[in-house]
Amino acid sequence: MSSYASIKNLGRSSIFEDEGKLDVSYVPPMLPHRESQYGSLLQTFRGIIDNPGKVGPKAIIVGRIGTGKTALSQRFGLDLEAMAKERGSLRLQYVHVNCHLLRGSLALILTEVISRFFPNFPRRGLSSEELLQTLMKVLDEEDAYLLLALDDAEVLIQREGPASLYDLTRIHEGRLNKPLRLGLILILREAWVLSTLDQATLSTLQRNIIRLPAYGRNELFDILRYRASLALKKNAISEESLGLIADLCASEGDARFAIEILLRAGKGAERYGNQRVLPEHVREAYGSLGYPPSLLDYLRSIGLHEKLLLLAVVKELQASPEKAYVTMGSVERSYNMVCEERGEQPRSHTQLWKYMATLSAIGLVSTKISGEGQRGKTTLIGMHYPASSMEKAVLENL
Ligand code: ADP
Ligand code: MG
Repeated sequence: MSSYASIKNLGRSSIFEDEGKLDVSYVPPMLPHRESQYGSLLQTFRGIIDNPGKVGPKAIIVGRIGTGKTALSQRFGLDLEAMAKERGSLRLQYVHVNCHLLRGSLALILTEVISRFFPNFPRRGLSSEELLQTLMKVLDEEDAYLLLALDDAEVLIQREGPASLYDLTRIHEGRLNKPLRLGLILILREAWVLSTLDQATLSTLQRNIIRLPAYGRNELFDILRYRASLALKKNAISEESLGLIADLCASEGDARFAIEILLRAGKGAERYGNQRVLPEHVREAYGSLGYPPSLLDYLRSIGLHEKLLLLAVVKELQASPEKAYVTMGSVERSYNMVCEERGEQPRSHTQLWKYMATLSAIGLVSTKISGEGQRGKTTLIGMHYPASSMEKAVLENL
């Protein structure tokens, strides 16, 4: 490479096209596998632009961490704003506040909302009742409509009590003959929080509960592939590596965790100077996040030939760095060679299957049955630990 070319390439990533697209604060244009929930939001809130002033819709989004609650609400809110703009003069503002960051204080939350309309609005002094009146006055004066999303709303309920929501959900009732200006999205992790609310508040909210189930393995795979297509260079990650991330995250169904692993694995590949994110980078990223639990405790509990078998898995994975899983047949061949090198009598085929079942039950390896793309069905062996740390740990504990 000429020195000019190397200077030009300095600081340019071999892996990322735009790393920021994996940031938690980035709102992607689409949310695969949330189409029906997006549709429910649209159905609930489209009245704000179809019949401005006539409706004050409310909905609740419920789901565990990483199920896309924040992303869904933000995507929808920004889209609805854009739709209002297309209609012409309707001024609709989507405001997303995180109740946790504002310590669950309704006064701080309302101040934050008002300051979106008046950036210099004084930060202290008014009670939440006064602030609520001020907010409605501001909306009237500006002839504006507000779609307010209260994220991590349980913090608000905990701190201010259920009555705070009562005021918000009933805000329009004391404003006879005035246009309805507020739409409300409550975002919660657990639906049981709702049972702490009084019946009146509940009745207005309960009609539109939008549930986000944890993502399944294949849904995570689609999400990862989509996010990788936005953030990574073309061909910088294989389906094999994406599939491994999906496998590792399937039990939690948490897209945030999956995207974090994708980001870290990409960083790792970059650090090693690779052009591609390999399964080993994924395993290292997973390990760097504190998963899986300590290797050594597990290693101490297994026998010599289980360790040699483990070493054989390591060698096979290292021999095929593009692969996240290797076949039992190839591991067996490698095991026989490991035994020969060490002057050990290899154990029988049947015994090896038993050892593998033990290793898999402990979690030192992961096994799955091959699906499409492979002739017949064979058992595939993979690993959640980085192969290099596994090798080191086994060799030190033989
Ligand atoms: P929650 O608020 O439920 O904890 P987030 O909305 O913060 O979850 O989602 C976590 C991460 O996963 C974010 O980076 C988000 O953009 C991403 N994400 C979640 N669901 C999807 C999806 N269906 N498609 C693409 N990215 C998603
Ligand atoms: Mg969130």
